[in-house]
Amino acid sequence: MTTDRRRPFQGILIPSPNTPNIKRRYSVTQDIVSFRRCARQYGAFNIHKYAPAYQTQTYFGTILHQVLDRCHTHFYGKIDPSTKGSIPDNGKIISDDEIIDYFDELRQAEKAKTKNPTPPSEIVKYFIEVENGLKSQGIRAITQDIRQKAVRLLQYFNALEGHTLYPRVKDTEHRLQADRSNHILHGVVDLLVDTPNATDNPADCEMWDYKGSSLLDVNPKDLENYEFQMRVYAKLYELKHGVLPRKAILYFLNELDGSTCPSKRPVNALMEVSLAPNDIDDAVSEFANTVAQIEEARLTDRWDAAQPGSISEKDCQICDLRWNCLTPNGGKGVKLRYP
Ligand code: SF4
Repeated sequence: MTTDRRRPFQGILIPSPNTPNIKRRYSVTQDIVSFRRCARQYGAFNIHKYAPAYQTQTYFGTILHQVLDRCHTHFYGKIDPSTKGSIPDNGKIISDDEIIDYFDELRQAEKAKTKNPTPPSEIVKYFIEVENGLKSQGIRAITQDIRQKAVRLLQYFNALEGHTLYPRVKDTEHRLQADRSNHILHGVVDLLVDTPNATDNPADCEMWDYKGSSLLDVNPKDLENYEFQMRVYAKLYELKHGVLPRKAILYFLNELDGSTCPSKRPVNALMEVSLAPNDIDDAVSEFANTVAQIEEARLTDRWDAAQPGSISEKDCQICDLRWNCLTPNGGKGVKLRYP
């Protein structure tokens, strides 16, 4: 056989590549719950990656979660073995005035580039460590009140729940994942908590999720989304451990707020989510529907704003898209500040 030197590849057949089956990962909270809350906001900030001007909600929720995670780490002595078995500050609470004074001293030291003052408590120390990490990602509190409130709630939770809850915690930031036919579903449960006197059986575990809000302030649609989230987690837990968790609990941290720490848990602080099999099945099929809706929205690049009344006015008040959205203010849109 002679080869035409000018066409060295003539006659060689190369099959076209198979379309790779790359599955998108969907987070229960960051994708599915966000899209269900407001597809327009999700499209702008999660898909198109516009940077929000303020990240108030992200700041408040993240700092509460991460400091509480450090409290559990403290109890288990994972960073410093000498703290094993103790709760931060032994549950003592410092006053709002002491917190404000410390924040002022810290600000002055940072401005003068001198040595930072010693934090007045372990909770404040953990708070500042987490806050510095968030600052490096551009996530800050917009007001001093929000910082102060976060420290107050953390202290109250630590004092009220620490002694009984921390010893029962089996795992924090428990990762769950499932490989579905066309996507990967994943989520992170804040806490796995053993039932008192349990025998290390996954069926005895409770899943706990912290929320920074008050139960009474939660919009019905958001509450529906929280329940949906816990039921999807329960399904993922079953896929991983072979059994459903014993309970799914939502803890509303803002229910603890006040001028003094509550002496017992407020009735609305803790809410148990039903894990009836039909409720879980509904949540799983709702999850699949939402994934299909996101895929459809990606194809058309169409992201619709939430319907008036289906999203809380508070969420819209801090959304950068509110100036160009008819949903806030009961469907009338926000009043423009000009001319
Ligand atoms: S203002 Fe409200 S409804 Fe409009 S995009 Fe923002 S969050 Fe969604």
